[in-house]
Amino acid sequence: MPNRKNPKYIFVVGGVMSGVGKGVATSSIGKILQARGLEVTAVKIDPYVNVDAGTMNPTEHGEVFVLDDGMECDQDMGNYERFLNRDLTRTNYMTTGSVYLSVIQKERNLEYGGKQVEVVPRIPLEVIERLNKAAAKNKAEIVITEIGGTVGEYENILFLEAVRMLRLRHPEDVLLALVSYLPALGAGGNELKTKPTQHAVRSLNAVGLHPDIIFARAHTPLDTKRKEKIEFMCSLKKGDVISAPDIESIYDEALDFEKENLSDLILKKFRIRSVKRDLREWRAMVQRIKNAKRPIKIGIVGKYFGTGNFVLEDSYISVIESIKHAAGSLNRKPEITWLSAGEFDPHDNKRYRVALKKLGGFDGIIVPGGFGSRGVEGKIQAIRYVREHKIPYFGLCYGMQLAVVEFARHVAGLPDANTTEVNAKTPHPVIDILPEQKELLAQKNYGGSMRLGAYPAQLTPKTIAREAYGKSKISERHRHRYEVNHDYIERLKEKGLVFSGQSPDRRLMEIAELPRDTHPFFLGTQFHPEFKSRPLYPHPLFVEFIRVAMR
Ligand code: GLN
Repeated sequence: MPNRKNPKYIFVVGGVMSGVGKGVATSSIGKILQARGLEVTAVKIDPYVNVDAGTMNPTEHGEVFVLDDGMECDQDMGNYERFLNRDLTRTNYMTTGSVYLSVIQKERNLEYGGKQVEVVPRIPLEVIERLNKAAAKNKAEIVITEIGGTVGEYENILFLEAVRMLRLRHPEDVLLALVSYLPALGAGGNELKTKPTQHAVRSLNAVGLHPDIIFARAHTPLDTKRKEKIEFMCSLKKGDVISAPDIESIYDEALDFEKENLSDLILKKFRIRSVKRDLREWRAMVQRIKNAKRPIKIGIVGKYFGTGNFVLEDSYISVIESIKHAAGSLNRKPEITWLSAGEFDPHDNKRYRVALKKLGGFDGIIVPGGFGSRGVEGKIQAIRYVREHKIPYFGLCYGMQLAVVEFARHVAGLPDANTTEVNAKTPHPVIDILPEQKELLAQKNYGGSMRLGAYPAQLTPKTIAREAYGKSKISERHRHRYEVNHDYIERLKEKGLVFSGQSPDRRLMEIAELPRDTHPFFLGTQFHPEFKSRPLYPHPLFVEFIRVAMR
């Protein structure tokens, strides 16, 4: 347990309903405290039983974000990294499943000295131990922990119990923030209703907690009258209710919070003194993104489309953010269009040629990561079209593998080439399973077993990749089971494909590209560059892609 010299803990919980931007609020609180000169880290707690997010379908749960150390986690972790500009670790993420798993492992190892292991206090204590570890590992002075779900649910009760225990022992080191939603009623939707928030506070009271700060999430800013009402009805001190209206860009929220002097409020509650206050770079970045008016049209071809935009944008959030960072840095406003791969598949759509012509209307096309065979033929057709019509192309992981398949089929004279992920019996498996992965799959070992996390790569001089990065050694994050098959590398190279990035032992092809004199930008990465792009440090390959797309 922390003592006075130890870190301060801020817990962020949600009230009324989920999906109201708790993750962005958490990230923004982190950002403004960081701007006050404090070392901040952020932890996400997800209440589900899955041990990590790796086995979950992105169409239902959003993107699976990957950390340097290979942790597969919730997309909120991506926001924390983007806002804080810190590489987080597996200590920054936990689920009900992972907490139980370690308690059970400890019990099996006789670590509880023959005692009966009770859910309370063992599970909450394990949670607290993990939070302490996260603080130590990240050398953090402030640990902001977002607890998934909403208060009053059965699922997150043990995490709230951890907050209660920690706070009981160290009241001066713990703050609890409730992000609550205020529905709007009335013809103009102007009347914000506070009652659901009052109920959420009652739910917290029922588990022995009371919020120190309430973030009033609503369509519009909160007026003084409503602020006072929440303060009075929910027993909060004056000034402890923060208005959090809808925003144009998620990066705005940190600036909005500071308009309400939130960092002063938190520092005062923790009795921390700081004279530093530096959000200049952040403000300039937000301005640049907002002021960019000239559009850049990017098409994203994928299979996870058609279930409504909300789901869609959540499935590819890091790709979207990376495009925004790069475009913003070049003073362009990205216009992203979702293109369903099925449209381009001759088997699915007789008019696929007409559909393909649409690609000519874009400044650049991206095929992002993916799994399985659905949509693959359509993606390959789209890649062929943009290669032949010299439209800038950026392939991310599967998008790189399928570019290699396309090139093998239509340039290298291997018309039946494929990835064994789609056709295990293809005569030309130009993309094949990594040898170490074969065994794992045979054992049905699917969880956390892909080639995951950061691996180094060596770049080839005088290539687009080498010039974009401006250095020859890079480290990027991975999440895949398949790779370019060595048996075909010579043939592909002879026909003009350049492997401009390779693992240091030259075994794995990390980047494939076409020379600049044959195509303006045709490049794919076996890794996921989108996991490392930050608003203040856009990813060099995304920047280069957008730069070429602007021409
Ligand atoms: N399905 C491919 C593989 O497993 C690509 C994975 C991805 O795009 N993340 O190798």
